[in-house]
Amino acid sequence: MSDSRRTRTVVWLRRDLILADNAALDAAKRRGDVCLAFNLDPVLLASNRIGAPIVQAFFSALKALRADLRCRGSDLALLRGDFSSQLLALARRLGAQAVYYNEDYDPAAIARDRRTSADLTAGGLEVQSFSDHVYFGADRLRNDQGQPYRVFTPYSRKWRALHATAPSAPIASEDRLGERLLPRGAIGETSAVPRPEDFGFGSSERYPACSEQIALAGLERFLQPDGAGERYAELRDLPAVDGTSRLSAQLRAGTIGIRTCIGRAFDAAQRPKGAQIGAWINELIWRDFYQMILRSFPHVDGAPFLDAARHIAWDDDEEALRAWCEGETGYPIVDAAMRQLNQSGWMHNRLRMISASFLTKHLLIDWRKGENHFERHLADADLAQNNGGWQWSASTGTDAVPYFRIFNPVLQSKNVDPDGVFLRAWLPALARVSSKYIHAPWNMSTAVQSESGCRIGVDYPAPIVEHSFARARALAAFGAVLADRSVRPDR
Ligand SMILES: Cc1cc2nc3c(=O)[nH]c(=O)nc-3n(C[C@H](O)[C@H](O)[C@H](O)COP(=O)(O)OP(=O)(O)OC[C@H]3O[C@@H](n4cnc5c(N)ncnc54)[C@H](O)[C@@H]3O)c2cc1C
Repeated sequence: MSDSRRTRTVVWLRRDLILADNAALDAAKRRGDVCLAFNLDPVLLASNRIGAPIVQAFFSALKALRADLRCRGSDLALLRGDFSSQLLALARRLGAQAVYYNEDYDPAAIARDRRTSADLTAGGLEVQSFSDHVYFGADRLRNDQGQPYRVFTPYSRKWRALHATAPSAPIASEDRLGERLLPRGAIGETSAVPRPEDFGFGSSERYPACSEQIALAGLERFLQPDGAGERYAELRDLPAVDGTSRLSAQLRAGTIGIRTCIGRAFDAAQRPKGAQIGAWINELIWRDFYQMILRSFPHVDGAPFLDAARHIAWDDDEEALRAWCEGETGYPIVDAAMRQLNQSGWMHNRLRMISASFLTKHLLIDWRKGENHFERHLADADLAQNNGGWQWSASTGTDAVPYFRIFNPVLQSKNVDPDGVFLRAWLPALARVSSKYIHAPWNMSTAVQSESGCRIGVDYPAPIVEHSFARARALAAFGAVLADRSVRPDR
């Protein structure tokens, strides 16, 4: 346990609710005694960029972390309100000389951290930040001109080359941590972990719960011999199958370290049946890539990466937006996806691509409206990945899908859920519709509709837009501003 003659550091947690593989915690522990703190931000909790699933994910992670710290005789200092004054008061009360934290690339977080660091420094504290939530920090990988990459493939090549020569091992922040944690008595009384309802959010058993323990067990299960990881490349596009890791909310709350994930994945990929795990590692590189894009091009928060895309003539159809949000477009694959999102706080990656393409291309609705709906409904909502995914789908981003590649929702549906298993699970109105019609139920005759218990326009909506009309309209709208422009290859 702690020694009153040693220096004391407050570790200000934000998206790193974990004791193992935590850079700021490790540095603080080497320096002396440590108190972990998290500040509940009433402004963020009241904003329209946050929703119940991520609040529940974070609160569950805080609860688990506090329980873990209490088992070790310490506590989590849970603060509420203005960052600078809360952290200063805590540091003074504890006699701490320093505040350490891990970097966050969200532009609002960067501004907050600058402000808070200046206040803490002015208050006489030493402040240090660390790269932690990405495997390679945004400045580590540059192209031959010394600029940030704009295209994924050359970025990933460089990433893999750097990994081969200088891998980042998981950080041993938990080793002998018990000797460094300030005892609960020294930390004193702090706030209880609130319930989502205390801030006006709903809660659901279907939203993911986060903790270090759940996250590690999930990683082990995914990467174990004969686990889903070994068939990732085959299964990752099938929403009816549990073929992905489901670790996104954990990575978002930081209940698992990225170095732990990458390290275990490379080890597992060496096994005789481990080849497909390489495809999973690629997705983790996409995560680093989008984090780097947000850090290097912060204008993507709120504006298209491609300047020309500012001039796309979006349609302001509020009723179409409502139908999309609520899963009532009449296209089963889009509707099932949106209901999975709204009810469970998670959506399968392939379906995120299909539903985002549908909103921006078929309905010609501004990607920012879809991005915001996702922010408020995903437990893993993360500005970098969400923005990257939306701008990719809307063809407005770096390395985005070309604007003329417009997903056909019926063909996509047949490819990814041929027997309609996923569709029937989320759309009870289609429960008795045969696999022949389930992807485009409007093709059923009136007699078949009656037999299937699914009358189009009564039990299940008619399509809100016709595919070939929508495709032509999108080609014209996007072509008018993007036809001559493409991202310069960046090798
Ligand atoms: C429109 C759109 C919005 C998205 N919004 C988010 C978001 O807010 N938060 C988020 O974490 N992911 C987002 N993604 C990426 C991806 O859909 C999710 O990470 C994935 O579905 C999470 O499930 P999983 O953990 O089982 O993923 P797995 O397939 O097991 O992948 C492992 C991890 O890699 C990362 N990852 C996977 N796919 C991608 C990707 N395409 N881009 C960047 N990182 C990826 C995630 O951290 C994920 O947890 C979005 C994708 C699209 C197309």
